[in-house]
Amino acid sequence: MSSSNSQYSFFETVGYYFDKAAHYTPFDAGILEQIKACNHVLRMRFPVRVGPNMDQIEVIEAYRVQHSQHKTPCKGGIRYSEDVNQDEVMALASLMTYKCAIVNVPFGGGKGGIKVNPKKFTELELERITRRYTAELVKKNFIGPGIDVPAPDYGSGEREMGWIADTYMAMNAGDVNGLGCVTGKPVSQGGVRGRKEATGLGVFYGIRELCTNEKTMKKLGLTTGIEGKTVVVQGLGNVGFHSAKFFRQGGAKVIAIAEYEGAIMNPNGLNETEVFNHRKATGSILNFPGATNLTNSSDALTLECDILVPAALENVIHDGNASDIKAKIIAEAANGPITVEADKILNKKHIVVVPDIFLNAGGVTVSYFEWLKNLSHVRYGRMEKRFTENTNSQLVSQIEELTGKHMEPVTKDHLSKGADEVDLIYSGLEETMISALHDILHVMEEHPDIEDMRTAAFVLAIKKVGMSYRELGIFP
Ligand code: GLU
Repeated sequence: MSSSNSQYSFFETVGYYFDKAAHYTPFDAGILEQIKACNHVLRMRFPVRVGPNMDQIEVIEAYRVQHSQHKTPCKGGIRYSEDVNQDEVMALASLMTYKCAIVNVPFGGGKGGIKVNPKKFTELELERITRRYTAELVKKNFIGPGIDVPAPDYGSGEREMGWIADTYMAMNAGDVNGLGCVTGKPVSQGGVRGRKEATGLGVFYGIRELCTNEKTMKKLGLTTGIEGKTVVVQGLGNVGFHSAKFFRQGGAKVIAIAEYEGAIMNPNGLNETEVFNHRKATGSILNFPGATNLTNSSDALTLECDILVPAALENVIHDGNASDIKAKIIAEAANGPITVEADKILNKKHIVVVPDIFLNAGGVTVSYFEWLKNLSHVRYGRMEKRFTENTNSQLVSQIEELTGKHMEPVTKDHLSKGADEVDLIYSGLEETMISALHDILHVMEEHPDIEDMRTAAFVLAIKKVGMSYRELGIFP
């Protein structure tokens, strides 16, 4: 299937970027072909009873793709959307492989898709669809804490992950690690604090770190630091909402937010939570107090700004609008928001595109932390929080005694605090995103002819995946 405005399908797009990067890696054609290929594709059709009396049958089309088992389990979300198709799920699964490699998350890539519009079904119907989908995965041995671990994606969230965990555990009674069969679960069902906002927070950490890079900022004619930067966010779903929130809290100004029905703009900055509540109350993002309406949603993409954050679906930036983009940095919070044709135009314009396989990896990074929590059966911070607090308070008292000065109670609390689960998750995520960015920049220093971050990120990913095949002894 060819994606709109592009001669490449989504899976071909990923392959195009892969090929562009491959010759910077030391592997021969056979290894590269294995890294690029999707190992397992499961396509299913199953019947679900729907309707007010549950007397109608709806046949659901769904997929699970395992792109790579160079590390196991496979990992990746499940998309609920009417546009789901095999090519898209294969593309998204392969992006997961590269994403995990870049942030050193020891998983292979996977992805699922259920071809439904969740808004057209009741909660009970969605529960039935999700449970049946899970049962199909169990039957085919396509799910399990050591096999393949789904997570939320576009159109799914904590609620669906809770149903998946419950169904899996009912069918695998006695599996002590059963909760690790899926991530993004509610905290009350084995989830981890910080998972919901993880992708958006990762986007923020990645861009904030890039903005400390003097060389890049100078080339773009920008000052260093996130403070005062203007940001446009396309999509106010989980990823867009949290990206906007962390950018605003970090001192940037979110000057426009776009959704299906249109976009709103305010040069003084928008508060994403107020916008979200307004949309919930009125059914539309438009007519937000103090903001100007843009009735054509895609007009937001071509606004003058420092950072453009596409945070919804693929192919929103294409050859029809790429040359009108005025942003200096494009932060790919969504998977595949730029077509190959648009990518070429943006590179020519020297716009810095921060690629999805790095920038939106915060979600899977925290999923990894959740999976570790499930396997270790203990909440992060439980063992050391009090110990740290006691040691730190003694240290603070000693300093006060030796200096004869008293600290402000807030400073004292701050210095004495032991880490909670969410503190450790944020810290692990921050470290991961910062290190990964520097690894990508390092590849660009090693290969001065690589001009774009996407190619550098693919080089890094291919090298890591190829090396693990070697470590496994699969290739010499
Ligand atoms: N669906 C998310 C992604 O595309 C998260 C995947 C996960 O946590 O496994 O990265």
